[in-house]
Amino acid sequence: MERFKAIDVPHLEWHVTHSCNFTCQGCGHFTNDGYIENFTVDELKSWYLPWIDKIRPRELSMLGGEPLLNKDIIEIIYMTKEIWSIESDQVFELVTNALLIDKHPDLPKALSDTNCVLTITKHSDDEKYVKLFDRCMDKIKSWGVKHIVHDAVDYWLKAYVGYGPTIEPIGSDDFKESWDNCPTGQENFQLYKDKIYKCAPLAYLPLQKEKYDLSDKWEPYLKYIPLSPDGDIEKFFSRKAETVCAMCPKKSGRFKKPSPLYSPKHYGIL
Ligand code: SF4
Repeated sequence: MERFKAIDVPHLEWHVTHSCNFTCQGCGHFTNDGYIENFTVDELKSWYLPWIDKIRPRELSMLGGEPLLNKDIIEIIYMTKEIWSIESDQVFELVTNALLIDKHPDLPKALSDTNCVLTITKHSDDEKYVKLFDRCMDKIKSWGVKHIVHDAVDYWLKAYVGYGPTIEPIGSDDFKESWDNCPTGQENFQLYKDKIYKCAPLAYLPLQKEKYDLSDKWEPYLKYIPLSPDGDIEKFFSRKAETVCAMCPKKSGRFKKPSPLYSPKHYGIL
């Protein structure tokens, strides 16, 4: 009998928490907005199980929010490695802003045991922030675990303007051009509950809608239908530009982010 071959997928990521200790303006995951929700080991396992025989991601990325806010993160790392049967030719990573690195004494061992890379995003060159960041980096380096730093100080692409209740899509009259300049990098597919979304803004926009009476400009994008485990998986992952990409700007809107440590009120944007 011919064995079913899992479909090769470039990258799959998911939130282990919606909570975050940062307030990054323009966050594509909307987790700058005071969400407090961690996902349990069993919840996450139930998200993975419908997919493990259907797709094989080359990269599997656990993030948030800030994943170190999830008290179960150590167990989640081990469970994820096991359930997805992650092999040495796949990248397994935990994406963090690093500032809570002291919260989990067992983290270095869990990362080493599972060959999980710690990907650290550097968010700002604000003096107070850099001092905290550097202290955490010294600690991580002393662990000797595999880690990389993603420098987002001058490279932060906004998919929308505003903050919380005032968000508005930047929008475009050419969805293909928006896709060519996709602020989330075109291949950052999101697993949320048992569905897969084209990108983070489409996955988490409904959370903002539950919280606020958003402008009607968001309506076309709130109608987006994600992939279900019984959907056409090959077709979903082969799509490139889609009409929903008109939500995003035509040109990449890089901007230098202010310190993520302060509230939007501090910056006078709410
Ligand atoms: S809607 Fe399209 S262009 Fe915008 S972030 Fe998602 S995939 Fe990228």
